[in-house]
Amino acid sequence: MSEAHKPQAANSAGTQTILPGSTIGILGGGQLGRMMAHAGSRLGYRFVALDPTEDAPTGQVAGQIVAAYDDREAARELAKRSDVITYEFENVDAGVAAMLMEESYVPQGSELLYTTQHRLREKRAIEAAGVPVAPYAAVNSEADLREAVAKLGVPSVLKTVTGGYDGKGQWVLRSEDEIAEAFEALGGGKMELVLEQFIRFDMEISVIAARSPQGEVATFLPAENVHVDNILHLSIVPARIPDAVASEAEALARRIAEALGVVGLIAVELFLAGGQLYVNELAPRPHNSGHYTMEACRTSQFEQHVRAICNLPLGGTELLTPVVMVNVLGEHVAPLLERMAEHDEAAERLGVEPKVHLYGKHEAKHKRKMGHVNVLAADTESALAWISETNIWRA
Ligand code: AMP
Repeated sequence: MSEAHKPQAANSAGTQTILPGSTIGILGGGQLGRMMAHAGSRLGYRFVALDPTEDAPTGQVAGQIVAAYDDREAARELAKRSDVITYEFENVDAGVAAMLMEESYVPQGSELLYTTQHRLREKRAIEAAGVPVAPYAAVNSEADLREAVAKLGVPSVLKTVTGGYDGKGQWVLRSEDEIAEAFEALGGGKMELVLEQFIRFDMEISVIAARSPQGEVATFLPAENVHVDNILHLSIVPARIPDAVASEAEALARRIAEALGVVGLIAVELFLAGGQLYVNELAPRPHNSGHYTMEACRTSQFEQHVRAICNLPLGGTELLTPVVMVNVLGEHVAPLLERMAEHDEAAERLGVEPKVHLYGKHEAKHKRKMGHVNVLAADTESALAWISETNIWRA
């Protein structure tokens, strides 16, 4: 790796405080950037996003440079127009990241991206922080895979080390007979792979932590996450877990944020199995499972991210009300819009307040994330009852 491409730790350019009135540049112009811009513009910041799609979700509420994510000229233009740069996805091209570090102020650095873009590097960093992950083995050949299966057993999960999301780039190995097929299907030999022991979890939870350049850390309460077809469906908060487990999850997220020198947000996804927590993966950005914070916490994850990268004191993270966040995919948009135009008898009866967020995406494709609803309620059961009564999310 050339010197220019060496990942840079956060703060290596020195800490700066970026005051309102300044412009925040975002690599990526999706819903996460949009919600970041909404939260930050309330504080008085301006935003400009780089995204290849015309009229992208963030571009509708901020300035936009329309160009590919790895277009270095466009990234240079973003640097010129911004006082500080952040990103809303982790697969930032290493060359672009290095260039931005050079030409602009990137308080998050590029080292965290370098770590979280690669499952093995990420697992090693988590372990080095003293936090457990599911037992795993690196797989570079079919022989490695045979050895790994012998060690970790079946079922186990074979994953590509880079590029997977929402369950893509994964194969659940149920028997040794599938070894050759799974290796081939995931591009083994060409792609680096990792085999993980299958964790028979009781629940998936996640914690969003924020860290400022001065080292202040704040965590939000864990969300209990329910996936459907590998896509997040619900985040239930408070999670239905003992307080001690919730505190432990927050402590692990804090430890990771500190050990990895995070600036901004880090989302920590965990499995809870028989009282034991294992980290599944990290995301160095606002996370879908943190959308519940928007109305349910003193500070939203988006405002917290802006505060952290701008070196402002972090906001309070207390939960103000129980909440269930439910994702709105392409197929849910039409029934949701229909319902929004009518008096919501069920909401009234159950005493819930559904707060709708739509991202301004043009095409409501099947399974595409189009928005979410934060269902505020006196208890999470009432919020879940509303979600089930609406029939919008019927299977
Ligand atoms: P990931 O892309 O790593 O977040 O995985 C997507 C989903 O697959 C997770 O949310 C889990 O539901 C499931 N999964 C991934 N890894 C494991 C594992 N080691 N054991 C059990 N389930 C897993």
